[in-house]
Amino acid sequence: MKFSWRVLILWTLPALVIGFFLWQGAFSPAAGEMGKNAASTRMTYGRFLEYLDTNRVLSVDLYDGGRTAIVQAIDPELDNQRQLLRVDLPGYAPELISKLRETGVSFDSHPVRNEGVIWGLLGNLLFPILLLAGLFFLFRRSNNIPGGPGQAMNFGKSRARFQMEAKTGILFDDVAGIEEAKEELQEVVTFLKQPERFTAVGARIPKGVLLVGPPGTGKTLLAKAIAGEAGVPFFSISGSEFVEMFVGVGASRVRDLFKKAKESAPCIIFIDEIDAVGRQRGAGIGGGNDEREQTLNQLLTEMDGFEGNTGIIIIAATNRPDVLDIALLRPGRFDRQVTVDAPDVKGRLSILQVHARNKKLHSEVLLEGIARRTPGFTGADLANLLNEAAILTARRRKDAIGMLEMNDAIDRVVAGMEGTPLVDSKSKRLIAYHEIGHAIVGTLLQSHDPVQKVTLIPRGQAQGLTWFTPSEEQSLISRAQLLARITGALGGRAAEEIVFGNSEVTTGAGGDLQQVTALARQMVTRFGMSDLGPLSLESQQGEVFLGRDWMTRTEYSEEIASRVDTQVRAIVEHCYNDALRIIQENRTVIDRLVDLLIEKETIDGEEFRQIVAEYTHVPEKQQFVPSL
Ligand code: ADP
Ligand code: MG
Ligand code: ZN
Repeated sequence: MKFSWRVLILWTLPALVIGFFLWQGAFSPAAGEMGKNAASTRMTYGRFLEYLDTNRVLSVDLYDGGRTAIVQAIDPELDNQRQLLRVDLPGYAPELISKLRETGVSFDSHPVRNEGVIWGLLGNLLFPILLLAGLFFLFRRSNNIPGGPGQAMNFGKSRARFQMEAKTGILFDDVAGIEEAKEELQEVVTFLKQPERFTAVGARIPKGVLLVGPPGTGKTLLAKAIAGEAGVPFFSISGSEFVEMFVGVGASRVRDLFKKAKESAPCIIFIDEIDAVGRQRGAGIGGGNDEREQTLNQLLTEMDGFEGNTGIIIIAATNRPDVLDIALLRPGRFDRQVTVDAPDVKGRLSILQVHARNKKLHSEVLLEGIARRTPGFTGADLANLLNEAAILTARRRKDAIGMLEMNDAIDRVVAGMEGTPLVDSKSKRLIAYHEIGHAIVGTLLQSHDPVQKVTLIPRGQAQGLTWFTPSEEQSLISRAQLLARITGALGGRAAEEIVFGNSEVTTGAGGDLQQVTALARQMVTRFGMSDLGPLSLESQQGEVFLGRDWMTRTEYSEEIASRVDTQVRAIVEHCYNDALRIIQENRTVIDRLVDLLIEKETIDGEEFRQIVAEYTHVPEKQQFVPSL
């Protein structure tokens, strides 16, 4: 259990404060001592002397070492009634004693009750002591908590911001679908286990391996698996944790990390998101960043400072190798680069098999089918998918994950949470026409992916959705396919316009139009698919703040820029006219499909095609089906 001292202290302090005041009240020495002869009324010292002179005083009791007197006096105005009065005396006054003796008033002195004084003293001291102790404790604890306020007090020393795992417990068997990367790294395990084999023939063991790939593809997992296979400790830190508010902290963290690692060599140092520190020096808006550069310099120094044979291997991960400082990539540093890409269909199948090991799957669930339906999913997406399915299964109180749960989980991972369907209204009809518009254009264009289903159940941001069976990520996409995608994406707006008229079209098509514009622009500027000719006018867009360059250079003139715009517009216009034509020619079947969709909320792709085929010719799609 994680027990937080800070929380405990934070709650205890106020309680102590309140307790202290209650307690002070109860033990106040004045209240304790004089309770028995409580003199409610006070008399001034001058008045007391006056009373003495006029013989009105009967007796005097001295308390507090002669600082307070309780006086018994008679009041002539009140029938000589006796009354008790309290007088504060100006300290020890010998004249007063002699005067009392002169006048013959009976007087007595009561000793100070020690007990009370001690309690009082303790009471007064207790609170500050507790407070100091509490604060002391708080600071001591928080120094051990990474990121706690104590961090600021000894930032130079940089308490461990890195994690150390003596045993990661992860093996190569837990990593699937990235076989090439695994093979490359198998050798690293051998370096760690049997360095003699390499040093004997004079081979220099590499110090650094850079894993490059999009998030979620298993880079961290792979690094842990290397440590697990070799049975060595795993030190990890994220690049962003090097970069701190205080200049010099990052550098001292690097020193610390390497010091600790050297003590437990052989081991693996894993630096996640290395681009956060390893970016090209002196780049980005506003010039360099001193802190980051110092950290990077320290890292480079440390990497040069030990020989590969010491048994430390540094593994770094990034998804932006293009922004890394070249000094990091030269031989003797991260001289090995291993690409970890999103898995293909076979890879997805084996990742699903790895994560299905500890889950109960119904025999109807075929992982092959799921692997086919999830192009573009990374290992993390697939792990998440199976987990979502398992959660749904538990929620539905079934004892094994069925196909229904798998399908729902895919929809959920791809498009977000399911919402409640709209009630029957004009806007529901409009959404239905919009979606059927996408679906019919997609069905009737030869080069478009086939419709998987159309639904009016909202998900994420979308009020309705048309799902297409995605084709396996092909590296080559033809011009016809791109045009078909643009036309299909415009199908929704086209249907709105034809059925409801130009003034009734809605904002619902905003996302579609964004996609359309981006695709059309790329056709012109990157793929050379317009009348402008085969020119590449734009490189892949990079983020200005991260990249090496100040800005993406525009590699063409103003004149070309306006011609690009004309071409983009021509492509979109052409496709929109196509979409409008398809909607107009198939109005009858569209009306029928819309009624059906509003009634059923979801139409399956097969049923959709059958209905359309009753009215017109549906072209046969040729989708590339990879073998498993
Ligand atoms: P990255 O570091 O590349 O962003 P991670 O290694 O952190 O990705 O992956 C996150 C999780 O996704 C892992 O803990 C694992 O459960 C799952 N995962 C990712 N890739 C794979 C893979 N190739 N094989 C098995 N599981 C994977
Ligand atoms: Mg990671
Ligand atoms: Zn749409």
